[in-house]
Amino acid sequence: MRQSIRLGRPHGIPVGLHWSVLVIMLLLTQGLAVSLLPAMTGGYAPAGYWLASAGFAALLLVALLLHEYAHARAAQHYGLRVRSITLWMFGGVAELDGEPPHPRAELLIALAGPAASLATAGVLLLAVGPADSLRAGLLEAGLGWLAVMNIVLAVFNMLPGAPLDGGRALGAVIWWARGDRAAARRAAAVAGVVLGLVMALGGLFLSVATRSIAGLWLILLGWFLAAVAHDEEARLDRARRGEDVRAGADRGRRP
Ligand SMILES: [Zn+2]
Repeated sequence: MRQSIRLGRPHGIPVGLHWSVLVIMLLLTQGLAVSLLPAMTGGYAPAGYWLASAGFAALLLVALLLHEYAHARAAQHYGLRVRSITLWMFGGVAELDGEPPHPRAELLIALAGPAASLATAGVLLLAVGPADSLRAGLLEAGLGWLAVMNIVLAVFNMLPGAPLDGGRALGAVIWWARGDRAAARRAAAVAGVVLGLVMALGGLFLSVATRSIAGLWLILLGWFLAAVAHDEEARLDRARRGEDVRAGADRGRRP
């Protein structure tokens, strides 16, 4: 994915932003400033809410980078090349080259991201301390929101369909159980198509029921996941028929 802004190159990994990351930045800032933070705290000027919300939204992007970075470092540990880590409108994506040597490597690369998100949530919850809604200031409210978002990120990514982490993990387990890597990948991709379509339908329902922009975003996200999974499935089928010898190689993008 083309990076509009390059942030750095830790451990040789180009880390950057795609311009479309502005979409989630705006959605998050707006959601926080208009409804969530005022409901949780009260008593601040609108400009204060907007400023704080933009800061917390930016911190969530940092948390997304941590998630991807964990995938990338695990992949490097098993000898894969990491082409890039990029944030864009559907979150983060680490682009990996090469094949995990065994199912355990595939599993650990998949789990590294959600584990990092859960660890981030744990640290944030410790920092916030016990909830006391009567005295919640902007900082506590925002950090609490960040903790919850990190948990949501971990749980969402563990949904069992490729290219999500849960789908990669599912593929690793099937690979381990059946000893057939290609069949395992295909099963995970088919699960990803179903998952994406279910998500898009859920988004459709949400946007009709609540007329919210979140519903529209869910439709786009579900559709995107289904398309990526379908593409992966088609690529694996071509590789199995011997039409495209490179198609089976992991050109995996993982959220
Ligand atoms: Zn992930």
